[in-house]
Amino acid sequence: MRGYLPDYTFESANSLKKALSFCEAGAKPFAGGTDLMVLFEAGLLAPGKYLDISRLKELKGIKNSKTQVTLGALTTYSQIRNHLILTKQFPILGLASREVGALAIQNRGTIGGNIANASPAADFPPGLLVYDAKIQLISTKGIRTLDYNRFHLGYKKTELRQDELVLSVSLKPEFQKYHHFWRKVGNRRAQAISKTMMAGIAKTTKKTIQDIRIAFGSVGPTAARCYHVESFLKGKAINTQNIQEAKQLLSKDIHPIDDIRSTGKYRLRVSQNVLEEFLCGIG
Ligand SMILES: Cc1cc2nc3c(=O)[nH]c(=O)nc-3n(C[C@H](O)[C@H](O)[C@H](O)COP(=O)(O)OP(=O)(O)OC[C@H]3O[C@@H](n4cnc5c(N)ncnc54)[C@H](O)[C@@H]3O)c2cc1C
Repeated sequence: MRGYLPDYTFESANSLKKALSFCEAGAKPFAGGTDLMVLFEAGLLAPGKYLDISRLKELKGIKNSKTQVTLGALTTYSQIRNHLILTKQFPILGLASREVGALAIQNRGTIGGNIANASPAADFPPGLLVYDAKIQLISTKGIRTLDYNRFHLGYKKTELRQDELVLSVSLKPEFQKYHHFWRKVGNRRAQAISKTMMAGIAKTTKKTIQDIRIAFGSVGPTAARCYHVESFLKGKAINTQNIQEAKQLLSKDIHPIDDIRSTGKYRLRVSQNVLEEFLCGIG
């Protein structure tokens, strides 16, 4: 049963200063509403104060310089998939954006919402992990910047304080010589929550791996980098034996569980196959 409207107050802020003081007073941000409205319709949205942040210009836009690309928290998937420079420098973000929900969700859903919602099945975090993103959080006390891999602390737990907003995500455009890979596995090609997903980048010279970064989502409480597999593969040749060993090692990095969408056993097997697909493609 949907939530009872009089249990909620909904404010709108047209300046960042005002928005931050609302947050300090306990209001919860509402960006595209694509996660929050699902909760509301299911009667699971906590009663209280909500703040429409969708008009805050400081949280909008994709800015790029030679040394850094910054995506405002209100950037939508459609804006990302249509941004030629961003999708050339960070192809995984473009590929993942094309597969979030379907067009209506891509037009409304924001990356700030995807990150702050902290679902283990969110499609954006694995790409941000392999690209070594940083995240900027803002409150009335100022801005703090964190390595993105420190932001998600556990299932639905993040570093975000009640009085803070996600301001932006920043990336260094230093992966031009890498092979980029993204694979999402769900029940359908669209409107499907992932059973497993993988982002991977690798740089090779003469069939030997110089650098490699791999992250999975939907196979643990948070998206995770696969450090065991990465350190095994660095400096190694891409051959059948090393690929098989990497697949076995993957169970040290990901810990999928059984839930309504899949079994842990299926998720591990498919994740190993996706890893093999990536490694076979980088040689
Ligand atoms: C039909 C459907 C299909 C979907 N498919 C996918 C999919 O394939 N892959 C996927 O990853 N997701 C999917 N989603 C989930 C959702 O669209 C995304 O997580 C989206 O990015 C959320 O962004 P939003 O702006 O709509 O967030 P909101 O619903 O507005 O907010 C979500 C959460 O983030 C918080 N929040 C939002 N912005 C900020 C901010 N700037 N600072 C601090 N906190 C903030 C809110 O308080 C709330 O807790 C789907 C949703 C629906 C309804």
